[in-house]
Amino acid sequence: MLIAKEQGGCLISGSEYREALSRNEAGQRLVCPGCGEAVIFKNGREKIPHFAHQINQECRSLSEGETAEHLAGKELLLRLLPAEACLEAYLPELAQRPDLLWRRLAVEFQCSGITARRFQERTHNYLVQGYDPWWILGRRFLPGRGLRWSQLTKAVVRASPQGLELWGLDTKQERLLYYHDLDWHYREGALFAVTECFVGASLFAGLFHPGSRCHKPVPKPRWEIAEYRLQLQRSLASRTKGMIRLQGACYQLGGNLLALPDWCYLPGRQQFLLEQQLVGLRFLFSRNPQVDFMKWYRQAEELLEWPFLLLDQQKVLADVFAECRELWQEASQC
Ligand SMILES: [Zn+2]
Repeated sequence: MLIAKEQGGCLISGSEYREALSRNEAGQRLVCPGCGEAVIFKNGREKIPHFAHQINQECRSLSEGETAEHLAGKELLLRLLPAEACLEAYLPELAQRPDLLWRRLAVEFQCSGITARRFQERTHNYLVQGYDPWWILGRRFLPGRGLRWSQLTKAVVRASPQGLELWGLDTKQERLLYYHDLDWHYREGALFAVTECFVGASLFAGLFHPGSRCHKPVPKPRWEIAEYRLQLQRSLASRTKGMIRLQGACYQLGGNLLALPDWCYLPGRQQFLLEQQLVGLRFLFSRNPQVDFMKWYRQAEELLEWPFLLLDQQKVLADVFAECRELWQEASQC
């Protein structure tokens, strides 16, 4: 942690404490602002000055053990946020300490492993108490081209007026990474564009204003219905787990993912989030195109794997439903 509490109750940062030490003015007893247990000062060579619990205990207020990347990331993000932002502000009502807090924006820089349960708990607590959790990923969770996204990488995808987005931080290059134009193609997997922004004081002001982020149209690979159907067939033949589950659910309803009307295989607006699952949702619709949304939604929910904790599933599926209706109407007019 970068902040500790002194005997009088004042908060002090690692670098302030180092200065105080050099003037021989440093207090002796330091505690963790979260759990109140004793912490010690660490002025290492590889890590910036920080504090650590004296006894290696599980402190519920801290998100993780501290790596050099995490410590450096917090300092970088402090530079990025407006001046009144706080490092490691303890929120007693949640017993949580976001890495940084600015107004209701709780910033978490995640660069080491976190269990799905712990992540859900922290995110849920923020949302319930009216905080906006902004998860920023460290090196090991950044998405790469053609690689499968980790559960955590998916879980922190956010919605903004510009569309879906994901954030990362490269502490070595001091760059904030903004992933946008998220899409999915059956041949290539997840597609995205990334804009790198140097962490400077003027950056933050523009971040949350619509239209201020640079957007070049990203070229998309061609999408062929016949080829996609073939690819689905291959996924089934190689017994891809998600596909087997999806096909099983369709069989139970008397359908077959490989024998649907052509419109079911067209690319969709929510393609990135749903990948191949979109075909299953369209199958549900095609069984009964007069179905009302809530009835379809309940079935869709059961069919779906949904790792995106920060997105409104019902809103996304309402859009899928509307799109099904458009595509089905168009197809039946031909
Ligand atoms: Zn503690």
